[in-house]
Amino acid sequence: MIPFSPPRIDERTIEEVAAALRSGWITTGPRTKAFEKKLAAYCGVEQVIALNAWTNAAELVLRWAGIGPGDEVIVPAYTYCATANIVMHVGAKPVMVDVKDDFTMDVEAARAAITADTKCIIPVDIGGLPADVPAIMRLAEEARSAFTPDSDVQKLLGRPLVLSDAAHSFGAAIAGKKLGTQADITGFSFHAVKNLTTAEGGALAFNLPSAFDAEAIYRAFNVMSLHGQSKDALAKTQPGAWRYDVTIAGWKCNMTDLQAAIGLIELERYDIETLPRRRAICERYQAAFAGDDRFVPPALADGERQGSYHLYMLRVAQATEAQRDAIIAAIAERGVSVNVHFIPMPMLSYYKELGYAIADYPNTYRHYSREISLPVYFDLTDAQVDEVVKAVKDAAEQVMGA
Ligand SMILES: *Cc1c(COP(=O)(O)O)cnc(C)c1O
Repeated sequence: MIPFSPPRIDERTIEEVAAALRSGWITTGPRTKAFEKKLAAYCGVEQVIALNAWTNAAELVLRWAGIGPGDEVIVPAYTYCATANIVMHVGAKPVMVDVKDDFTMDVEAARAAITADTKCIIPVDIGGLPADVPAIMRLAEEARSAFTPDSDVQKLLGRPLVLSDAAHSFGAAIAGKKLGTQADITGFSFHAVKNLTTAEGGALAFNLPSAFDAEAIYRAFNVMSLHGQSKDALAKTQPGAWRYDVTIAGWKCNMTDLQAAIGLIELERYDIETLPRRRAICERYQAAFAGDDRFVPPALADGERQGSYHLYMLRVAQATEAQRDAIIAAIAERGVSVNVHFIPMPMLSYYKELGYAIADYPNTYRHYSREISLPVYFDLTDAQVDEVVKAVKDAAEQVMGA
């Protein structure tokens, strides 16, 4: 049995979590703060905040920006539901647009979708290949003249905010610069299946225009993530420092030091072990499928965009959705777990009932209906990669004919 994406957990991870437990400090504290500093240095930004999930972190961004009822947020139809769910949570409207052949947001479709109510654009780095964030930043700039701000943050920004959904793409780069320095705010996920994990977790890298004070924004997000309380638990442990105030009805989505302990170990070996191994696995798949015209291999890099090797999103060239499903069943019979990323949001009951229709996103459907994600994880051996390739090719032949 070859699983799809088990986390890498070894004695080093266990030791660091045990050390956090033994330290007596288990919630947000020294390890979380150290993790944030190391993440900021890694991404090349001034400030990073680590929180308990991409979803809550990104939702705080929308709340911080004062986005709500009457506002529109542009998202790709082809993404995990969290990208649009957060827009629903704040009462704004997700405006879905189609994707290009590399699965990322079609910038022209986004341009056509911009209105005076567009307050935010959320490109998604599907599979780890960055969306064309520089083009989306230019698009946000173009939207400046029609922009109608209705919060202080929106007034200061003067254009739609670009919030990058980099849940898949920690460590990816554009033009040689790690992600975090391209969009206004970049959100990472450290969920158990992601490239770098803290079991559950996420982080925001801030890269706002100079009119914003990064240090003040970091503090504001800390307060928002901790009930709106003016002091965190660590600050309150100083003798006599018991008094605090609450300035907003905040949320609760801080990262714990147990999570950060995992993250610190993961980060330490990310560039030297994790990414090289994931790259070798993806390139081995690439070599196996590239010359075979029954398959469309994914772009692992393109021009200035360098991916993070998060998913290996293979497409079966001529398959219908039913044939793809049958191929997955035939792969499973051969003891290999694969996955589909993602069921497009317009095909999910909730969004369908709101009126979104997959017929409006032909590229999204075309790619989704043929897509099969193959296992990629640190402990996957070359022999297992070859086993996966054989299972996929045999299953495709069984369903599609030779
Ligand atoms: C995993 C994922 C998320 C959500 O991340 P969490 O940390 O689980 O909240 C958001 N967007 C995409 C594209 C994802 O794959």
